[in-house]
Amino acid sequence: MFADKVKILKNQIEGLSKQILLIAVSKRESIESIKIAYEMGFQHFAESRLQEALIKQQELNSLNLTWHFIGKLQTNKAKQILLNFTYIHSADSLDILIKLNQLAGDLNLQNKNKILLQVKLAPDDNKSGFLPTDLLNSLVSISELNNLNIIGLMTILPFGLSPASNYELFVELKTLKEKINAEKLSNLNLTELSMGMSGDYPEAIKAGSTMLRLGKAIFLS
Ligand SMILES: *Cc1c(COP(=O)(O)O)cnc(C)c1O
Repeated sequence: MFADKVKILKNQIEGLSKQILLIAVSKRESIESIKIAYEMGFQHFAESRLQEALIKQQELNSLNLTWHFIGKLQTNKAKQILLNFTYIHSADSLDILIKLNQLAGDLNLQNKNKILLQVKLAPDDNKSGFLPTDLLNSLVSISELNNLNIIGLMTILPFGLSPASNYELFVELKTLKEKINAEKLSNLNLTELSMGMSGDYPEAIKAGSTMLRLGKAIFLS
């Protein structure tokens, strides 16, 4: 990690949008690398595997870090994820939302975690997520999950699309958010768009991203 390069990137992004939350995706990165990123001014970190994350959280206990879960949400790990992550970006089905809602009640964590709904905008066998139509059809059921604080939508684009296609898909996510808010359902007023990774963040910013999830751009520079 070259501090100068990362600082330039950080300043560049913050110059484009002051509102944007920069999340350093630290999966597979060492404790040492996370400490260096922290010293460069990153405070939000994202992990995709629970066991790996718990070890890092324990070791980095003394730093004031905010943790985001971005990996596949498995039912049997949902409890530990609720207990150990402030943000959960990867709620990808009604079933897992129902489970989270029930656990949040059981654990007295009502509305504590900030939850985002993962949406699959383009066919991609390797990715999960709500299809936009399925999400729209599930809105009433989702709005009844009173223990959950659902703050926005998240997406991961298929790899290798053109910048123009990336931009179009990101705009689609923003439009979907507006459509959901227009329903005016209780408990469903979304403010966040978690979109943009190392390969596509410029288009995500242009389309209105509020949270960038950057791994390689930070740790491999
Ligand atoms: C790994 C990962 C990222 C970061 O990807 P980079 O290309 O390294 O920036 C962002 N979001 C999710 C969900 C990821 O799994």
